Amino acid sequence: MTANANVANSVPLLPAEPRNASRSIPARGRSNGHAAIVPIRNFESGAAKVWLQDVSLRYKTETGAELLALDRIDLKVRQGEFLCIVGPSGCGKSTLLHLIAALQKPTSGSIRVDDEYVTAPGTDRILIFQEHGLFPWLTVGENVEFGMKMKGLSRSERDERTRYYLRLVHLSQFKDSRPHQLSGGMRQRVALARALATEPDVLLMDEPFAALDAQTRDLLHDELERIWAETGRTIIFVTHNVREAVRLGDRVVLMSFRPGRIKREFEVQLPRPRHLEEVDVARTAREVLDDLRDEINKSLEAEYADENRG
Ligand code: ADP
Repeated sequence: MTANANVANSVPLLPAEPRNASRSIPARGRSNGHAAIVPIRNFESGAAKVWLQDVSLRYKTETGAELLALDRIDLKVRQGEFLCIVGPSGCGKSTLLHLIAALQKPTSGSIRVDDEYVTAPGTDRILIFQEHGLFPWLTVGENVEFGMKMKGLSRSERDERTRYYLRLVHLSQFKDSRPHQLSGGMRQRVALARALATEPDVLLMDEPFAALDAQTRDLLHDELERIWAETGRTIIFVTHNVREAVRLGDRVVLMSFRPGRIKREFEVQLPRPRHLEEVDVARTAREVLDDLRDEINKSLEAEYADENRG
């Protein structure tokens, strides 16, 4: 049984007010001249939306050796939190998302959503990749409808949600276009609308904006932050871009390289909306980067070693 598979259906559609009014984005605050970053505090048990407990994962490599990709991960993600995970290439970020989506099973440890063990993929947790994965032969509207069809929603409900979520990503006028007629950023927004339309509780985003140009990425940061505030979803966002993590996250989790462990966590207390170019965002990102640098070096050394062996 998929954990919490029906929760998405219980979320009211087309809310008159932001679903999470307490978290609607405030006007930009003033800088106090310090990087707004504090070590994470432990929060009380039972408050987690997603809870990974002592999760490890070993892969078998091509040579038959074992690779400890994730090592005893303990992580609690709060309801409605925007959590960013950063770390060097190969530290296990994608693997972690796959485990939460239940596309893979951990070697040991447990994963819970709303206190229910996750055992299979479910529409309560949707994964969005860098490759948007739209169907080229379907229109934008039909792409958005696709997941809802799979979920067995009625025609009228699908129509209503398609209209609502296309409006949310500012693509209403492109409902009948095909994906190839859109820019990369617009396609990624369609993918976002498609994922949101099934009303998942948790959005798992794996470097979704990495292939976009800087300007488009900036716009999508703004859109995603607004949509997150309006819908109250819990977001777990993987990136290797520390500034992006600080721009978006309530909290930034830094992972170490081989084995993938949680090295440090930071609570980002900068006011929203934030912007990549802001001094405070840059300063905060630099603090995270100082910690990340060692891990990036280890990752590069491992890459060179692998190349030399090959
Ligand atoms: P990241 O997303 O941080 O770049 P991944 O989660 O993709 O890292 O991978 C973590 C580690 O596990 C890497 O060393 C990668 O080479 C290894 N790995 C990932 N998938 C497999 C697999 N299917 N088989 C063997 N090793 C894998």
